[in-house]
Amino acid sequence: MTPSTDLQHALEIAPHIWWVGHRLPGDPFQCHAYLLEWGEQSVLFDPGSPLTFPETLRKIQEVIPLSRIRYFVCHHQDPDITAILPHLDELVSRPDAMVLSHWRANTLLKHLGLKKMPLVCVEQQGWQLDLGGRRLRFIFTPYLHFPGAFCSFDEHTGTLFSSDLFGGLSHDSPLFAQDEGCFAAIQTFHEHYMPSRDILSHGLAAMEQWPIRLIAPQHGSIIPEPLVAFVINRLKELDCGLFLMTHTHSDYRRLSHLNRLLREMIQTLVLHRDFSEVAERILELAKPLLPIVGLDFYTLMESGAPLCLAPENGFRGVRTPPPPACAALLGSDRQAWLNQCAGNAYQLIPGDGITQGEESVVQGLVLPLFSFPTEQARSLVILRLTEPALLSEELLHLLEQLSLPLAVAVERESLLRMMDAERQSAYERSIRDALTGLYTRHYMQEAMGRLCQIHNRDANATIAVAAFDVDHFKVINDTYGHAMGDAVLHQVARLLMDNSRSMDLPVRLGGEEFLLFIMGTPQEAALAIAERIRQQVSLWVFAEPMHHHTVTISAGVAFRQPHEPIEQAMERADQALYRAKRGGRNRVIISH
Ligand code: GH3
Ligand code: MG
Ligand code: MG
Repeated sequence: MTPSTDLQHALEIAPHIWWVGHRLPGDPFQCHAYLLEWGEQSVLFDPGSPLTFPETLRKIQEVIPLSRIRYFVCHHQDPDITAILPHLDELVSRPDAMVLSHWRANTLLKHLGLKKMPLVCVEQQGWQLDLGGRRLRFIFTPYLHFPGAFCSFDEHTGTLFSSDLFGGLSHDSPLFAQDEGCFAAIQTFHEHYMPSRDILSHGLAAMEQWPIRLIAPQHGSIIPEPLVAFVINRLKELDCGLFLMTHTHSDYRRLSHLNRLLREMIQTLVLHRDFSEVAERILELAKPLLPIVGLDFYTLMESGAPLCLAPENGFRGVRTPPPPACAALLGSDRQAWLNQCAGNAYQLIPGDGITQGEESVVQGLVLPLFSFPTEQARSLVILRLTEPALLSEELLHLLEQLSLPLAVAVERESLLRMMDAERQSAYERSIRDALTGLYTRHYMQEAMGRLCQIHNRDANATIAVAAFDVDHFKVINDTYGHAMGDAVLHQVARLLMDNSRSMDLPVRLGGEEFLLFIMGTPQEAALAIAERIRQQVSLWVFAEPMHHHTVTISAGVAFRQPHEPIEQAMERADQALYRAKRGGRNRVIISH
């Protein structure tokens, strides 16, 4: 098992298992055939092609005569495995010889027109072959890299004949892998030939059921036991199937990077619930690809109003429409989008226009996020770039793939925003009186609980309660109508608000009765505020037809004692108000 292994002769790699392959000079795609020498029941795996078989035959005959071989196992139907079958068909004379493969391969292999050897399906053998004292297991590994691909496992020695799987693509792979460096050639081969990581993992899982001690692939290096687990684990992490992604770029390392990025981005979308996290992570992932400084999202809310989620607003969402250049795109359907963007599923931000070869140079990019299944661009994302960038097809392809999950994330976010806004406005409704905009009794109770606690701890955080009531308000209603009455209430409330500070609490108790809680103010000052409000109301000139009507209010003011229930202070204010009414109205009375 050294690099200087003599490849001119058959080599026993495990008890009764012989390497009988042939390496074509200068061919990175070396083809190994293996012989399981088991008397009259001997097996040849992946026989080869006219290019390699003469040497393979010579090596077989170093071990046993060809006539001992009863089974020719073809793990799939590629020419480097099966092209020699018509010749073998002539060569083999024993009547019980057969070609073993999967039915999907046999469907094609029948076109080789073998005259003697039958094509037998491994699945019809119960996925195993009893050689008499030695048993082979067949492991189905579909799409690696043929729909009917499978591998063979020799229970006796733990040897896995893996065919393409674990193969390497290299001019100078030693026959036996020496160290972990062997993975470079394996990686290259798998990135090119295996359809996808998921399918590859499925195949790997199927073979991990067996205690593998040696891997004998059709290409590359034979993998000895110490490297088996390492290679399997590395393959599980490998992204492959890259050419499904784009046909224009052959730089597989870059494609591999993009593929991984796409996977990470989608994972980000699934894992991160908070939209700002999603946006920031995607920005981070996209930075190595583009000189990108920001991602701005615009979406249409249910109401039709635009919502902007951008770093400047911490992705909390503000009601800003998209820039004029792309405003018309928001809400358009796919066809309308394509019409507006010269057939592209993106729009370039002005400043472009220059093209280098097939690629466009851009300052920024607008991508649609089409809703499913309506195909409407309910959202769009603007990628802001620091400098002009080359926009390759692979990059556009990546962005396009990302757009569906991003659309879902943005829609989810706008829905959450809507529910939030709904909740906020319901709360506002519950704390603000609709006619006057003053706080409601409901909110007053909630807020006063907190303010009283502060007052209990700090005697300077005083609370004065001023109770107001419009004088003869009934007359106003009766004389000028209810609407005019409303206008008066609105104006009185306005004056109440204008004369209170942000820490004070103006409340509409109901009807034409108001309260103003004045915080942290000496008694004289609080009284002065109540008095000023009374005065301003009485001086207010209302619109026609009330312009000759003087509206007045009466007030009663009380001061809460620490630890006194607020209701008690309110009651005292009300009693003072009552006295103000009794005393002739349009006055402020202090409670003692
Ligand atoms: P006083 O000087 O003794 O306070 O007399 P008043 O007429 O102001 O007192 P009263 O409590 O008898 O009348 C209050 C009236 O306010 C009765 C009610 O119809 C009217 N009112 C209550 N809420 C509203 C409202 O939201 N809008 C209007 N326009 N009127 C209201
Ligand atoms: Mg009243
Ligand atoms: Mg009144």
